Amino acid sequence: MCEEEYTQLISSRDQSTAQYLFALSSKLREEYYGKDVYIRGLIEFTNYCKNDCYYCGIRRSNKNAQRYRLDLDDIMNCCQEGYSLGFRTFVLQGGEDPYFTDERMCRIISEIRNKYNDCAITLSIGEKSRESYKSFFDAGANRYLLRHETADDTHYGMLHPAQLSLENRKRCLYDLKEIGYQVGTGFMVGSPFQTAEILARDMMFIKELKPSMAGIGPFITHKDTPFSDKPSGTLELTLFMLGLIRLTLPNALIPSTTALGTITPNGRELGLKAGANVIMPNLSPTRVRKKYMLYNNKICTGEESAQCIQCLKNRVSSVGYEIVCSRGDVKELKQNQR
Ligand code: SAH
Repeated sequence: MCEEEYTQLISSRDQSTAQYLFALSSKLREEYYGKDVYIRGLIEFTNYCKNDCYYCGIRRSNKNAQRYRLDLDDIMNCCQEGYSLGFRTFVLQGGEDPYFTDERMCRIISEIRNKYNDCAITLSIGEKSRESYKSFFDAGANRYLLRHETADDTHYGMLHPAQLSLENRKRCLYDLKEIGYQVGTGFMVGSPFQTAEILARDMMFIKELKPSMAGIGPFITHKDTPFSDKPSGTLELTLFMLGLIRLTLPNALIPSTTALGTITPNGRELGLKAGANVIMPNLSPTRVRKKYMLYNNKICTGEESAQCIQCLKNRVSSVGYEIVCSRGDVKELKQNQR
């Protein structure tokens, strides 16, 4: 599909094209992953951030955010709990917090690597130098999540302060890939000023990068940000984009995100039906969960948490899929789909 075709498809979508798309996307997903749903234990280890992204609740200028950091012991305890619950991937996510120097990050990564050699370690800590990425990789990290947020330069500038650029974000993604990480990118659906043309560009960028993972979720308003009066993205468009991503990247690991579960109670189940095959329950200590508030009403203390894995299993099986406890690495793309 080319950019114009994506634009056309997105802007003229209706219920019947969506149904057709989901039939294709779930067929592709099953070709690669059957009914399996992989789980990742998400550890939100710091909400300090030096950046000031206009959409994000943990942006530097939000004085109402109660800041916290987990220490090495806290993080190791999360992993231990996660491991016993069946998690074989740990995702360390956080704001861009200068306290976590490369040295501190490498220490954390190697501790986890030494203790849990059968697990994948995923990082999601923003933009760093190529050297930093390399040292995290050498310490034992395997995967990296860095959403490009929007593939349109002008739009990028409307969502971020001038110090941040799409060019550097892309540089990071290509560096990560070259170093050998399984890379994940993605964007918010319904972010302020987004158009069908911009979403088509996002799809073209994803097609070009060929990431192993692609995470999308609706933009959700946060009351203490410059976008406090902007409407959230919709379930309908997010599901449609999920379906398109599966068509574009047949073998990708695609999470049904917390944001999707936040705008609609069964949003994540619907995400699975649209082509997603990963769920990332929260493994952070309960005492800090409410503080990692990227957007209003983020679900974090109920059934979606790692501790309630049985509830999750039931939800997943209610739509015909099954949670499996493995590392859940990306499968190789078949020759005829390259
Ligand atoms: N600092 C890391 C992690 C950011 S949080 C980084 O820069 O990659 C993870 C993701 O949450 C972001 O990439 C963004 O797409 C999403 N996010 C932030 N604010 C949001 C909001 N208001 N609504 C929906 N998603 C949001």
